[in-house]
Amino acid sequence: MTTPASDTLLSIVDLGRSYRSRERNVDALTGITLSIRDGEFVAVVGPSGCGKTTLLKIVAGLLPASTGAVHLGGQRVTEPPADLAVVFQEYGRSLFAWKTVRQNVELPLRHRGYTRAGRRGLVAEALDAVGLARAADAYPWQLSGGMQQRVAIARAIAYRPRLLLMDEPFSAVDAQTRGDLEDLLAGLWRRYGMTVLFVTHDIDEAVYLSQRVVVLGAAPAGLRADIPIDLPAERDQIGTRSLPRFGELRARVHAQVRGVPQHPDRQPSDRLENVAP
Ligand code: ADP
Ligand code: MG
Repeated sequence: MTTPASDTLLSIVDLGRSYRSRERNVDALTGITLSIRDGEFVAVVGPSGCGKTTLLKIVAGLLPASTGAVHLGGQRVTEPPADLAVVFQEYGRSLFAWKTVRQNVELPLRHRGYTRAGRRGLVAEALDAVGLARAADAYPWQLSGGMQQRVAIARAIAYRPRLLLMDEPFSAVDAQTRGDLEDLLAGLWRRYGMTVLFVTHDIDEAVYLSQRVVVLGAAPAGLRADIPIDLPAERDQIGTRSLPRFGELRARVHAQVRGVPQHPDRQPSDRLENVAP
């Protein structure tokens, strides 16, 4: 087994998860070993049903693993860690309809020992960062889907998590809004220096946003590839996506998702240091 590097924030070793019921047994994940450095932006892609959400739930301490272990900042994860926030796909259900935007964002801060003024400051800054300062007194149902998702993002960043987990957070919004939210997230990641683990089934989105793309195979999912994204740090929707390198990287990720063997003279190192022997 490899020793985690000193700047490792998240360490996942030999993680597996099965769902057992009287009707059927599902091996959702097997043998996942993955390390994520402090401050890194890592995307996880894979076909629907391959265990992406299961992986995030285990990392978030919301679901026990069947095998293996997760450590965050050196501490074994057995319950939701304090310095972690999650943005789910179904943000509509994650916001309280009877609370205002401000109250929704403030809620998780209540258990963190801030003063009232301290909380207010964090909430105002987070709403400002996602461009919703003027919607603070609105109710979620008065907002568009894209705005609701920005509320969910504001709630996560107000919390100042070391690790932000996102599960297909933009899949329910239209293409234009999606691009805006991607750029919003990229800006927040730079500004706050968080570590982000971002699940998506959209390969282009994974390549556009991340520094590394991890590919899960079909269930029972194992780690299929770990591809560094060596695009320039400054990205924009039109310029970055039209770079030849962007096209090469998305083709590589595509091939791995579809399980197509790589051309021999192409990047034999897609299986990387993170994959245990
Ligand atoms: P993904 O997020 O990649 O679509 P999931 O992690 O949601 O995949 O699911 C992985 C597999 O585990 C799927 O076959 C799914 O049907 C199964 N699964 C997920 N949650 C449960 C559950 N609570 N009970 C039984 N099977 C489940
Ligand atoms: Mg899922």
